[in-house]
Amino acid sequence: MQLTRRDFSRLGALGIAAHLAPSLHAQANQKKIGYAVIGLGRIAGHFMPGTRSTTNSQITALVSGHRDKAERIAAEYNVPTGSIYNYENFDEIAHNPSVDAVYVALPNSMHAEYTIRAAKAGKHVLCEKPMATSVADCEKMIAACKAANVKLMIAYRCHYEPTNLRAIQLIRDGALGQVQTIQSAFGFNISPGEWRLSKKLAGGGPLYDVGIYSLNACRYLTGEEPDHISAYASVIDHDGRFNEVEENVSWTMHFPSGILTSCSTTYGANMDGYFRVYGSKGWLQVDKAFVYEGLHLSAEYSGKKLDEANPARDPSQFQAEAEHFSRCIQNGLEPQSPGEEGLRDMRYITEIYRSAGISS
Ligand code: NAD
Repeated sequence: MQLTRRDFSRLGALGIAAHLAPSLHAQANQKKIGYAVIGLGRIAGHFMPGTRSTTNSQITALVSGHRDKAERIAAEYNVPTGSIYNYENFDEIAHNPSVDAVYVALPNSMHAEYTIRAAKAGKHVLCEKPMATSVADCEKMIAACKAANVKLMIAYRCHYEPTNLRAIQLIRDGALGQVQTIQSAFGFNISPGEWRLSKKLAGGGPLYDVGIYSLNACRYLTGEEPDHISAYASVIDHDGRFNEVEENVSWTMHFPSGILTSCSTTYGANMDGYFRVYGSKGWLQVDKAFVYEGLHLSAEYSGKKLDEANPARDPSQFQAEAEHFSRCIQNGLEPQSPGEEGLRDMRYITEIYRSAGISS
């Protein structure tokens, strides 16, 4: 990939440039970064095998409310039983030298507490998206990590994913000419009983959970920050699932160059997730843009046609994410998706909710 200095600084502002910089490549013979995983749910089940495929990261501790489950996973990852913690004794991790960093894979509203406790224990933090459930919590998390002099990265795996990076590069190279508009959507038909339907635990509905991918993509695809946002939200299915959070959100963003983006998210229908970018010289589309495998880029511009299926399989995105954060820790570098990136999205989510008339 060829990047001009200007492209590089624009990508850098989005936290993506560092991924492309050869200077960041793993240095041989460095000690592996040890991770404590907090919350042994679904996403942790992708992250842990992802770390196993890296050369610079390993799982060295587990934090769970379910001892049996933790012991089972500990045996699989060669984690000593003395390095299994629960939510009460978690702070003792400060005295465990095998733990360099903590991966926070808990429900959204718990991210702030465990990030701050990990920072106070002197551990770097890789925190799942959305960063938290309020702007104030995001700011506290950033401040706590700064005060403890530890790194904070938000697990925006698409920033480290080759098909998303390829789309960004094509746009920056001018393949599409002047981008005019972007469409994106991501959602799924949620089952009852999920913590995602609790406002207290999730912060909000599908926007916090999956709509955030479209929001973040519009920012990395344009390389700009939105200056106007308007939104609508609705509940169609009055079946008890949406007593606390909304079912659907659609929002439009205006960017300083005049680019307009139009996004939707839902908990009422299955959507694979995609973005489509239209420019003066053509268009590109990524299907399955935000899922773990099966990403597909197609494009037509200036008489050219692209049809590129990404053969990478899960957990390659989690491998790339862990490798990146570990390299940053090993080399004293700032992650590409730092806390500030999560904070920006949280500000836009708050604005989308305000525009849609939802109290956040
Ligand atoms: P999950 O329900 O599968 O796992 C959550 C874990 O937290 C479980 O181990 C559960 O026991 C534990 N937990 C502790 N206290 C809890 C409580 N009060 N209520 C419910 N669970 C509690 O959830 P998940 O899908 O793994 O999501 C976890 C986080 O990861 C969320 O912030 C989510 O947004 C994020 N996530 C990210 C991606 C991604 O691709 N980056 C994908 C899915 C989820």
